[in-house]
Amino acid sequence: MGIPTEYLERQAKAHRLAAAIQAKVIEYLREGSLYKQVPIELAETLEGLYPKTILLYCVSCKAERPYHDLIPIRQKRFPSDENYTRLLTGTYPYDYACTGCELPFQCWVFVDFQNNTIEKIGQKPSVADMLSGELSKYRKILGDKYSEFSRAVGLYAHGVGVGSFVYLRRIFERLINEAYDTARKDSTWDESAYQRARMDEKIVLLKGYLPQVLIDNAGIYSILSKGIHSLSEDECLTYFNTVKVGIELILDEKIEREERQRKLANVANEISRIKGSLS
Ligand SMILES: [Zn+2]
Repeated sequence: MGIPTEYLERQAKAHRLAAAIQAKVIEYLREGSLYKQVPIELAETLEGLYPKTILLYCVSCKAERPYHDLIPIRQKRFPSDENYTRLLTGTYPYDYACTGCELPFQCWVFVDFQNNTIEKIGQKPSVADMLSGELSKYRKILGDKYSEFSRAVGLYAHGVGVGSFVYLRRIFERLINEAYDTARKDSTWDESAYQRARMDEKIVLLKGYLPQVLIDNAGIYSILSKGIHSLSEDECLTYFNTVKVGIELILDEKIEREERQRKLANVANEISRIKGSLS
């Protein structure tokens, strides 16, 4: 007799769920801010809760590296039955090391098996240190805006939603304004449409002056048209990464453009030097 299909289906479903939960846990360990409670389906899976490897920015390697889990599986606690959910609710250590240089990454997470939530209550290196390491490549291109960017990230890392969002939104808007300053010089530019537009519509109008991926996903940025006072702390923390990635995309493109121009200038110089030496 073969294995019942029902059993196989249940196994497959558990596996998919574990993968989804693990992706959420990884994202939370990587960039979740302290004391932000995240709902998660803990009841189902142990493997979901403890990822074997996580990709993290290593402040020592100065690059993203895989970190591996140092805590043996037998030391991990997971309630096998509902009676144990209260007993096992508590704070658990997460202990990882960089595969490049063995630098530790440690987190303390309050796992609530009764209410199915996780909450980071401590971490080393801090999210701020890891994120600002990642940010340092933007220092030059951002100029005076850089300190605001790193302040935004620092506040976010400590769970300060509205405060961090204010800084981030300001930088985003300034970058949009820079693109607008270039776009308005075009003879076909429709100024009145731009002035009437909400932020997400403005982004679409700036097609050709902003990264295409931002145009394609402009709808996300309708959140920026909301008054800062109508946003909750939690909403700000939730939207933080979307706006941050938007900023990074604009900056990545700027850096690429500058690099290309620098190469073109070098090559032009070189060619005229060679020509000079030939004549
Ligand atoms: Zn490292």
